[in-house]
Amino acid sequence: MSETLLANEPAVRLGFFFGIFAFMALWELLWPRRGRGIGRRSRWPGNIAVVVIDTAVLRLLFPTAAVGMALFAESRDLGLLGLLQWPQWGSVVLGVVLLDLAIYLQHVMFHAVPAFWRLHRMHHADLDIDVTTGVRFHPIEILLSMLIKFGVIFMLGPPAASVLIFEVLLNATSMFNHSNAYIPLPVDRVLRWFVVTPDMHRVHHSVEDYETNSNFGFNLPWWDRLFGTYRGQPRAGHDGMTIGLSSFRDEQTCVSIKGMLMIPFRGRSEDYVINRRSHGPPGGAG
Ligand SMILES: [Zn+2]
Ligand SMILES: [Zn+2]
Repeated sequence: MSETLLANEPAVRLGFFFGIFAFMALWELLWPRRGRGIGRRSRWPGNIAVVVIDTAVLRLLFPTAAVGMALFAESRDLGLLGLLQWPQWGSVVLGVVLLDLAIYLQHVMFHAVPAFWRLHRMHHADLDIDVTTGVRFHPIEILLSMLIKFGVIFMLGPPAASVLIFEVLLNATSMFNHSNAYIPLPVDRVLRWFVVTPDMHRVHHSVEDYETNSNFGFNLPWWDRLFGTYRGQPRAGHDGMTIGLSSFRDEQTCVSIKGMLMIPFRGRSEDYVINRRSHGPPGGAG
């Protein structure tokens, strides 16, 4: 069973990746949510180059990735979930939910800690947002997330199946919720109680720091509501809002692969992280 899982893991992942990517790319092309500021032609080469680099680096350093770690934990009977003695399907579901909570907390941490924000801000420096933004992460951030995930898997010991389901799901929902796909408002209103929708995650890519520091969830929208980081809509509206970071605006830095890889090493970690604000929320005195 574990051999089959490991052997098929890359194929399952790649299959879902290309399938969902093509589906979302077509959806945004046919029914876009917003008009395009900076088009695909200037942004896509860099965003696609970075996902190729990320995949190569991960495969090179951690060939069996998180599923391998989960199989190891399973074989040694490690982790808190083992103590529960739940039926297999219960542990799989709980494993997916807890991994999602861990990713939410990790995302908050990447915004709060200045050194981590340097890495994560490459994701946010994209000058527009679409399906390719969902896979645009700095290789060092990808490596760091994998190490954190190893730690979480080691402590929780979720079934290997839930790790594979979670990773495929995270990849798919990330492409979905970064996409520029149009979803009718009444549908979005219902959908965002169950999954993070594009309109919900787009708020997180606003140039306004109080909007950037909200909606950290990737799969389940409940964590933001539970922990008080939920924000329904961008103040300027989805068509009026500016995407990106106030201090990274030039195309050379934000969308060329060389510029993107250098973003963690440039300038100060500036005004988005914990306790650093140049201006307060709208109408506030600070
Ligand atoms: Zn973020
Ligand atoms: Zn994002």
